[in-house]
Amino acid sequence: MSINIPKNTKNIKKIKIKKINLDIVRQKGLFDEGCYESACNDICCEYGCDVDLASLKLIYKHRKQIEPLIKAKIEDCFQSGLKADDDYIGGGWRETEVREKDQRCMFHLHKESGCSLFYLVGKKGLPEQLIPTICKTYPITWNRGDLFVDRPLRQICKCREIIPKDRWIPSLYETQKKYLKRVFDIPAKEIEKVEKALKKEKALAAPRIKAVKEKMKKAAARAAVATAKKKATPSRPKKKSASKAKARKRA
Ligand code: SF4
Ligand code: SF4
Repeated sequence: MSINIPKNTKNIKKIKIKKINLDIVRQKGLFDEGCYESACNDICCEYGCDVDLASLKLIYKHRKQIEPLIKAKIEDCFQSGLKADDDYIGGGWRETEVREKDQRCMFHLHKESGCSLFYLVGKKGLPEQLIPTICKTYPITWNRGDLFVDRPLRQICKCREIIPKDRWIPSLYETQKKYLKRVFDIPAKEIEKVEKALKKEKALAAPRIKAVKEKMKKAAARAAVATAKKKATPSRPKKKSASKAKARKRA
């Protein structure tokens, strides 16, 4: 089945960004294994997403691989028709449907955690553009030239996890950077602004991390001395308990 593309659709290759909100540098990112090791149960997939026209075309092209993973037909995966919009790659978007059984986007894997599109890109080598932009860059999002953090962030999201105080956790900008560069057209001065802010954040964090590490080192040294002392002290024979002594007297 072919896609009915509106006449006013422009073939957008990258989304234009004019201004970046520095919150993307201040917010902790999807560190370590990111979403893969999170206990979030893919909560951000509960409302579905907007699929760019460029992704939509690939979804139709690779439908034979997608449909068995989601146990549904591609035609049943959308709740809106295609709308022309030059704020999306390809020049348009369609909103996905949410599955009734588990309240997850229709492209979420059937009875398993994870997204079928991420799976096919990561494990089966399908083109990265199969994944909608909004899902690749999340929780960073955009709107008509602004790039920012999509708040409120769920408490259970990896980027809100409580972290050890002795380490630097990369910001959202750092963990999502590879995607940001591929999908957005960002002016050089905005990138410079972000890099400068990142440098400042790291410089502010460095003394705090150093102090925490020193404190932990000292505590470990104190614990080692205490253990060594305990081992070196010869153990004294145990005193007989008073009750036992009294019992012997009575006997
Ligand atoms: S396309 Fe995948 S990542 Fe995006 S909302 Fe749907 S299931 Fe989640
Ligand atoms: S972005 Fe946050 S809520 Fe969404 S899958 Fe990753 S860790 Fe979970």
